[in-house]
Order: sequence, then structure tokens, then C-alpha cells
Amino acid sequence: MIVDVVVAGIGIAGAFALRKLSKELEVVGIDKREKLGFPVKCGEIIPTRKEMESLIPNLYDPSLFDIPKRFESNRTKRVYFHTGKKEYWIDFEFHVVRRDEMIQRIALESGHRLELGTVIRGFKDGKLITDKGDYEPKVLISSDGANSRIAKDLGLWSYEISSAKQYLMKNVECDEKTVYMFLGKEIAPGAYAWIIPKGNGYANVGVGFRKEFSNESVHRVLERFVKECPYSSQYLKRAEIVSKVGAVVPIDRPFGKAVHGNVIFAGDSASMIISHTGGGIPISMIAGDLAGEVVNKFFEGGSLEEYDLLWKKYLLRPLTTSYRIKKAWDLLAKSERISGLINIASKKDLEKIFHCQIPLKLKLLYPLLRL
Ligand SMILES: Cc1cc2nc3c(=O)[nH]c(=O)nc-3n(C[C@H](O)[C@H](O)[C@H](O)COP(=O)(O)OP(=O)(O)OC[C@H]3O[C@@H](n4cnc5c(N)ncnc54)[C@H](O)[C@@H]3O)c2cc1C
Repeated sequence: MIVDVVVAGIGIAGAFALRKLSKELEVVGIDKREKLGFPVKCGEIIPTRKEMESLIPNLYDPSLFDIPKRFESNRTKRVYFHTGKKEYWIDFEFHVVRRDEMIQRIALESGHRLELGTVIRGFKDGKLITDKGDYEPKVLISSDGANSRIAKDLGLWSYEISSAKQYLMKNVECDEKTVYMFLGKEIAPGAYAWIIPKGNGYANVGVGFRKEFSNESVHRVLERFVKECPYSSQYLKRAEIVSKVGAVVPIDRPFGKAVHGNVIFAGDSASMIISHTGGGIPISMIAGDLAGEVVNKFFEGGSLEEYDLLWKKYLLRPLTTSYRIKKAWDLLAKSERISGLINIASKKDLEKIFHCQIPLKLKLLYPLLRL
């Protein structure tokens, strides 16, 4: 079937692209899930507009981050950060969203045609092959996430990914205005663990995990975090598992080019992510919105290449800085000899890291880390 635009994958980037795409165009949104965004494979935190404005100084359309109340299950005010030896309290506000509901509502309200429960099998010679038939879009927005079938078929998929596992838990006894993050080789090898309160005793409790840092399974690492970790057990003593999810998240640099012929990549599919925290929702919101904007202009005579200029203008700098922080983080985590150096970080250093800035101490440490 020939259509103007296919949005392949309706997660965050796909939903925001659909919202932006003109009603004049014949658009089809495709997703393998019957119920968009469900199950939720995400901690569901989005920095508030105020935080986004300091995190990304040249923030594209700040109003995107005026998250409507109807999508919010909680709003937190601070982050508790535990490095194994030292603890920090950092003022930083997050919306904790109902991510599945947010994606569903935005996609439905876009008014475009949605083909749910439809699996993309491949992309070849301009044809998107699905289990329910083929599409020949004039433009294809690839927003099919970290395991992008389309990126694989175009030979572009080579980014590093991290595994993650998360429980939705009830009866969690923590301060519901605080997001908790725990660092350490035993707690979350090569990544970090989190407790994200959703309100009313519910919380997303999870771990990131990278095989190169451990011989264990991600399941075992999460079980240990929930049941044995001395720093988190006080909050989880009476907690019960409501549901479990496993997922992957890119932790690499973004694609050098996100436009390939008539295909535009947005979000995780192009490894557009704040890689030192695994924060991809705000980046996917911006990328999806920009993709929709550029495609609208394309049908009025513009060029798709404009997308590469725009996402780089707004996102490349923070994503590159974040990647450099993540690389330094990795070097610290890998070397027993220097891993203790994390504890010389001050609260101010951590605040900078949270705002995607490299603190002076880390800059000075680079030569040592390279050794
Ligand atoms: C455990 C975990 C916790 C996280 N927590 C946070 C957080 O708290 N805050 C934050 O900012 N980021 C977080 N992230 C990262 C964030 O979830 C992603 O960066 C973001 O969702 C990327 O959005 P996306 O639209 O690019 O991809 P996705 O949201 O993954 O959407 C991709 C869509 O494509 C569909 N799809 C994929 N393949 C096919 C196919 N073959 N056929 C049809 N449909 C397909 C999927 O069903 C999905 O709907 C977390 C990630 C993980 C794994």
C-alpha cells in the first residue's frame, strides 16, 4: 500500500511524531503492541521543564515539557544518590508519568490511522514488510526503539546497549518526593539501580546491567538489590512485586546521520539518549516532534536532510557530553584501583553530572582514567 508517511513504532518518539504530522497527509502508525506503551518498560521519569531548561540550554520547544497533570502519577523534588560509600541529596525535579497512558492518548488524539498488533518484519527496497501486509511510504519515520528492525536492515545498528530489569512494586516505604539511585559494582554492574516512587506506595524498582561488568544474570542482580542490598532494604522490607519487565536501552553515541534516503530515525532507534543516565524519554519527545515537523515541510517542498541539521542543533551537544561522562564512569567502574575516586565527588559535581555538564574534577581525571 502506498501512503505518505509510516510511523514505524509508536512509543514516545512515534507518538510525538504522529502528534506533529499534518492531518492533510495520509499517515499510518504501526506498532506490534495491541495496547500502546504496555507493559511499561521504563522508570517513567521526565525532568520538569525547569530542569530541562538547565539540562539542555538551547532547549527546543520548552512547552513540550509542560506535562499535563492527567499523565502524571507523582512529582518528585530530589534525587538520593548512593555510591556505596557516600550519599548525596540533589535538588532535581521529575514528573513520574503514566507512560503507557501518555503514549496511548497522544497517539489516539493525533487522529491518524493506527495499525496495532502489527509486527514489522523488515525493510527492503523501500518496502516496509509487516505480518499484515506491505507498505510503500513516501517517508518512513523509524521510531521502533533500541532493537530497531529498520536500523538493522539498513546496516546501521551497531550501538552499545545495556540490559535492564524492573519490578513494579507495592507497599514500598520510601519518601515519595525522592528518586533513589544506587551505584556500585555489586549493586548494578556497569549501570545503576533505582527506586522511583509512583505514589500511594507503588514504585518502579529496577537495575541496569552490563554483561562485561559481571558474570551474573540481570534477574539475580535485581533480586539481590530488592532482598539483600543494605542501602535499599529499608524501603523494600514489605514490598511486593506487582509485575516484572525486562528491556534494553542504548548507551552509545547517537547516529552520525539520522536521515537515510526517505527514512528518518527518531529516539532509541538512532541511539538518541542521555547515555550516562539512560534517560531517553525527553530526547525521544524532541526527536519525534522534530521528525514530524520536517516531514510536514517535506510535503510542502522542503528537504528531509533538514532533520539532521535540527536534531544536531538541539541535541548533539548534550548527548555527546553525556556520552563522555558515561565513558569516564565506565573507566572508574572497571578499575578496582581507581573506582574509589567516585567518592571524591562533591554534591556540586553530582549536580553538574545530573545537568549533563562535566565537572572540573572529572576533566582533570581524564588523563588518569585513560591510564
Ligand atoms: C528499564 C528501563 C527504564 C527506563 N527508565 C527511563 C526513565 O525513567 N526516564 C527516561 O527518560 N528514560 C528511561 N528509559 C529509556 C526510555 O524508556 C527510552 O529511551 C524511550 O522510551 C525511547 O523511546 P522510543 O520511542 O525511541 O522507543 P520505545 O518507547 O521503545 O518505542 C518503540 C516502539 O516500537 C515498537 N516496535 C519495536 N519493534 C517493533 C516491530 N518489529 N514491529 C512493530 N512495532 C515495533 C514497540 O512496541 C514500541 O512501542 C528507560 C529504559 C528502560 C529499558
